[in-house]
Amino acid sequence: MSQEFDADVIVVGGGPVGVGALALLGRLGLTAIGFEKETELWPTARAVHFDGEVMRVLQSLGIADELAKVTKPMTAMHMQNEAREKLVSVPTGQLGSQGWHDDVTFHQPDVERLLRGVVDESAGVELRCGVEVMHFENLDEGVRVTVRETDGSQGVYTARWLVGADGAKSFVRRSLDIGADKFGEDARWVVVDGHLHDSPGYEDDMIFLLHHTRPAMWIRLPGTRVRMEFLVMDEDDPEEIITPEAIERISHGVLPASQFEPERQAIYMFRGRIAKSWREGNVFLAGDAAHLAPPCFGQGLCAGLRDIANLAWKLDLVKRGQAKDSILDTYESERKPHAQFWVEQAVTAAGFLQTTNSEEAAHRDANIRANPMAAAPVSPPLGAGLHRGALDEQAGRLSVQSILTDDVRLDDMLGVRFVIAAQREVYEQLDQALRGRIEDSRDIVVLLDTAKNAQLLQASNASAVVVRPDRYIFGTASDSVELQDLIELLPLANIRHESACVYT
Ligand SMILES: Cc1cc2nc3c(=O)[nH]c(=O)nc-3n(C[C@H](O)[C@H](O)[C@H](O)COP(=O)(O)OP(=O)(O)OC[C@H]3O[C@@H](n4cnc5c(N)ncnc54)[C@H](O)[C@@H]3O)c2cc1C
Repeated sequence: MSQEFDADVIVVGGGPVGVGALALLGRLGLTAIGFEKETELWPTARAVHFDGEVMRVLQSLGIADELAKVTKPMTAMHMQNEAREKLVSVPTGQLGSQGWHDDVTFHQPDVERLLRGVVDESAGVELRCGVEVMHFENLDEGVRVTVRETDGSQGVYTARWLVGADGAKSFVRRSLDIGADKFGEDARWVVVDGHLHDSPGYEDDMIFLLHHTRPAMWIRLPGTRVRMEFLVMDEDDPEEIITPEAIERISHGVLPASQFEPERQAIYMFRGRIAKSWREGNVFLAGDAAHLAPPCFGQGLCAGLRDIANLAWKLDLVKRGQAKDSILDTYESERKPHAQFWVEQAVTAAGFLQTTNSEEAAHRDANIRANPMAAAPVSPPLGAGLHRGALDEQAGRLSVQSILTDDVRLDDMLGVRFVIAAQREVYEQLDQALRGRIEDSRDIVVLLDTAKNAQLLQASNASAVVVRPDRYIFGTASDSVELQDLIELLPLANIRHESACVYT
């Protein structure tokens, strides 16, 4: 295969993860072609919730203002039992550490439309709809992909890398014969989306209805939109349970047929899976192709967008010769345990939520009352990889994003680069030659202004912190000697003396 590729990256799948990948790659200046077999954007929603971290990833695409118009910060969440007693109430609605609300809801097609808009406007990346990937070869120097074009003809494209973001049934994963580990038990749920008019619904934005006679979830979306999900019981007739009359009945009148305008009702199988391997040669799996979680914490798509935010800047560094190909192995080592954490949390929560036995439910309620914090798990650090790992308590954790006095979010001033935030005297004591290399590098921004870096340093409990382009902490330092050591470990050929930079 010639080294003249058609693109740096071919992305299989134009769902939110594939299109998010194209958008992020485009912003970094890589070239990419996405293939999506469907001709039109999928009209119905699956995901309805993002967290603050994902809002920050999307902010990096320059769509924060548009996102604000199609998302709704969640204000209150609770869990209630069959007797309608509140077991735990989690206050939300405050701006969180990411400079965004910790929980927001949305209508998925609105967000996907925004992402496609970014791709349309970015030079070097494109999404080709109605084109199905039929075959690919994972070669030493790149990938060769065979597609069925919109007119039925065959096309062949080459790229250095391929990202399989082709969903739960991933053709890419199956072609590579990659199996998946199973977590928890699969369960069928009725998912109902629509508009609720002149009817109060529930007061809180998200409610886990731990009713053992029929477990359910309620989520209020922007405008008049609402989502309810109901466990399919053994005795249900799958055809009847999705009728308007059944929805009114199983929602206990919360979605009355006279005031609820349904957009769709469908039965989904909720699953917990993690692909055994996320990289084979030049091919990477991302999104549902790599992991599936029951949507109890609304983290499946969040995890998919974290995947591509983790991978995109590493591909960029390797493409530009700043880092070795081996840093791409840290995609799986960092992301897989993180995604697995959320799959396990969701599977555990699903187990609680899906209890249909009254005694087990009473036991469950007592456990929730005794341990209410389990209702709101906190994201773990990344797995071992491109950060100082166990050597540094903060490494691999997500950095905070400050909102500055003029309402500017700090990331908007920084770009997608490494950030060295330091007390001025600590930075100024660095070796002159190193400072020269840092200040000549397009991959690093130095942040010494206390008005801008104080919150970051305070949250990291350090005199200096190095943050990666995906906003995870590379490491912290308490003085200039430690900072110098840290910077020389960065995976940037222009900065380092050493050639290897993978820590476990
Ligand atoms: C009911 C429900 C509720 C959920 N709620 C949430 C939530 O609140 N928050 C959250 O974060 N997540 C949630 N999730 C999970 C979330 O919806 C998924 O994780 C996310 O949509 C996956 O996106 P994706 O791009 O990886 O895959 P998909 O959206 O499945 O996209 C894959 C695309 O690849 C295309 N494709 C497949 N094969 C080929 C091929 N050979 N050639 C070309 N194209 C191909 C497909 O047509 C498809 O468009 C929920 C899921 C469900 C089912």
